[in-house]
Amino acid sequence: MAINLDKINGALDRLDPEKKSGGNTNTSVVKLPEGESVIRIAPYNLDPEMPFQELHFHYAIGGKTFLCPKRMKNDDCPICDMATEAWNEFTSTQEESAKDVFKKLVATLRVYIPIVIRGQEDKGLRWWAVSPRSTYKEILTKVKNGMAQGIDITSTSDGLDLIVQVKKGFNDWLVPESIDTALRPSPLAESDDAIDALIKTITPIDEVATYRELSEMKAALSAFANPNAETKGENNEAGKNKSFNGGRDIDFATAGESDVVKAVGDKMDKMLS
Ligand SMILES: [Zn+2]
Repeated sequence: MAINLDKINGALDRLDPEKKSGGNTNTSVVKLPEGESVIRIAPYNLDPEMPFQELHFHYAIGGKTFLCPKRMKNDDCPICDMATEAWNEFTSTQEESAKDVFKKLVATLRVYIPIVIRGQEDKGLRWWAVSPRSTYKEILTKVKNGMAQGIDITSTSDGLDLIVQVKKGFNDWLVPESIDTALRPSPLAESDDAIDALIKTITPIDEVATYRELSEMKAALSAFANPNAETKGENNEAGKNKSFNGGRDIDFATAGESDVVKAVGDKMDKMLS
């Protein structure tokens, strides 16, 4: 059974304490618990025609998550540049390990959806981050099928709630297993005033995910390319810290791949200098 990269990234994300420093991430993003949740997709007041906000991230680069400036706004992104280097290396050498490096570096899409959880209206709208290939596709299909029947499931006056069943999947990670639409239309909230108030509770998406400094991206790339650099120094002194930073980078420490990462890293150094 193949490992699902999105799940890996999601798990890394949860382990990444840096991610939480980017403002009020903890309260503006919601994870659905195991079991059944009834939710409602709400319009996003800053983008009324498109509630689904697509964000591109580089995950687990030197143990950190980066919003990709290239995919998001066509700005320079050293991580994308290095991913391109790795891809070029793969196409010229057919070296599988170069492709693996590319896969680790390339930006991943996550989709953020503004929802209210029924019964938790007092907590306001929160962002539900979903995988593009499974959950997002399923929801888009429901939206499209609804539209074909003249129903906007996100309508604030007569939209449809969604019943989401979340189960533990691979490695006990929680994943939406099924999503059904309610059969009876309902308003988003009990009155027009309540709807207006609720819509305004969403945290702007650019406050949920923020760009990092270019220097921080480069430092993380450096750590990615030379995962054992720090450890070696520590070993000389302490002699027992071999796995000090091994938790995150341990998969890069295998011999053949390290060489490729290093080769790509060297090219990257040249590009940066
Ligand atoms: Zn990028």
